[in-house]
Amino acid sequence: MSALAREIRQNVEKRRTFGIISHPDAGKTTLTEKLLLFGGAITMAGTVKSRKATRHATSDWMKMEQERGISVTTSVMKFEYSGYDVNLLDTPGHEDFSEDTYRVLTAVDSALLVIDSAKGVEAQTKKLMDVCRMRNTPIMTFINKLDRDGLDPLDLLADIEDHLGIECAPLSWPIGMGKGFKGTYSIYKKKIHLFSATHGGRIQQGVVIDDVNDPKLDEMLGLAAQDLRRDLELLEGAGTPFSVERYLAGTQTPVFFGSAINNFGVQEMLDTFVELAPCPRPRATLTREVSPFEEEFSGVVFKIQANMDKAHRDRIAFMRICSGKYEKGMKIRHHRIGKDVQISNATIFMAQDRTGVEEAFAGDIIGLHNHGTIKIGDTFSLKEELKFTGIPSFAPEHFRKVILKSPLKTKQLQKGLQQLAEEGAVQVFRPMLGNEYILGAVGVLQFDVIISRLKDEYAVDAIYTPVNLSAARWVQSDDKALFERFQKELYSSLATDSEGNLALLADSSWRLEYIMEQWPDITFHTTREKN
Ligand code: GDP
Repeated sequence: MSALAREIRQNVEKRRTFGIISHPDAGKTTLTEKLLLFGGAITMAGTVKSRKATRHATSDWMKMEQERGISVTTSVMKFEYSGYDVNLLDTPGHEDFSEDTYRVLTAVDSALLVIDSAKGVEAQTKKLMDVCRMRNTPIMTFINKLDRDGLDPLDLLADIEDHLGIECAPLSWPIGMGKGFKGTYSIYKKKIHLFSATHGGRIQQGVVIDDVNDPKLDEMLGLAAQDLRRDLELLEGAGTPFSVERYLAGTQTPVFFGSAINNFGVQEMLDTFVELAPCPRPRATLTREVSPFEEEFSGVVFKIQANMDKAHRDRIAFMRICSGKYEKGMKIRHHRIGKDVQISNATIFMAQDRTGVEEAFAGDIIGLHNHGTIKIGDTFSLKEELKFTGIPSFAPEHFRKVILKSPLKTKQLQKGLQQLAEEGAVQVFRPMLGNEYILGAVGVLQFDVIISRLKDEYAVDAIYTPVNLSAARWVQSDDKALFERFQKELYSSLATDSEGNLALLADSSWRLEYIMEQWPDITFHTTREKN
């Protein structure tokens, strides 16, 4: 093995790149902050976000987010923990930004799901789970807010199994809950960790007892000790045994209980996470599978974000490295446009600031400065022509027509919409007939973001008018003559998207179905791979 191959292997094996997902308010931000605290990436609780106190947040870059209290953007945070290099990717919690979440989840090797113990599985949890399932992403679960009265732990597991269709293997077990929350027993490490109400924002250790039969436990917990022993017996008889293979295959989720705000149960989970979660995995391209251990560099852009930092006024393309080693100043090939580019100022995202990156390996996310030449889905490599797959756009379900307040701003509007479409913030359609811009979104909040960004970043005052559309499908056919006939007959319902792909826009699902029935040999796509 060459020295480079060895260096790559060592680095890839210690990398853990994961996304953190939850229904809003389950405690994702709080947990993220505690993870960063353990990773030494921040030193004080309260740095990541406190919406209610309108404090500025590390993981929220947009004004919008602060105003509305929803995570619009996605942030990347890198930290070291216990000899591992952890890359944590935050996802927007609000369902209107699910397309963004989906793309982020294409860049991770595993996910951490946060569930509120009082609420169990919620609507958004289900959707996120569906997304993870599309790629068999391994998922670890943290059931949060045990310091409050919630559902019975066994019922929570049944709820997850029933509603998310994934086997649960508890690796920790709560001792009481709410006011009676006494701590957790680590089934995995066979250790008891007692909670003290004084666990503040900082890292604190409770009492650790090694044996569940230790009489000290009865002294400390009273009847709760008996309850714990009974629960554990029950689990041993009827529970699902943990299987690392099933976890890695995405069919079983290890479950932890705790309280993020009190910093309880978080470290147990993190310790187990770094140990069990997969290191960077191979990725599919149009031509072959690329192993993270290969020496030749390759990477794919999964997200573009503008003006992350007002002071920088820039657009950053987030690239997941898929193989090889990135070194500052290296020349890589941008395959879509067929040009070599020198990357000398890539950034890596630490919790509180971004720093220049000297070297990076598969699993790392680096930020490239983008002057409009990079799009979502773009593949870069040293030489071999590759195209990573799996980053789709979803057919929009909501539509608006954009009207300019001043016709003099037509050019800026065009530029703004083009860039916002490339970023994946919205989809832009130009109907065959007329000169309009039709915006399509998966969630309506995207429209608000667009209007506010057009104004902020492009100095364009625009408003929306409603448009009588409710469905879109990308259309395609190998039969040229048929496709021409289709285009002629449906000319007034066709439009091109920002990448020039043909789409059918329909005013009702009824009409869409009717057209689909009439044209059985035309393919109607609800998702489209970024090209
Ligand atoms: P997100 O929307 O998933 O990012 O949730 P946040 O982290 O913002 O948390 C939502 C609310 O739940 C906030 O008011 C938190 O302070 C609170 N919270 C988070 N973790 C806990 C916990 O362990 N116990 C209790 N009681 N509240 C929590």
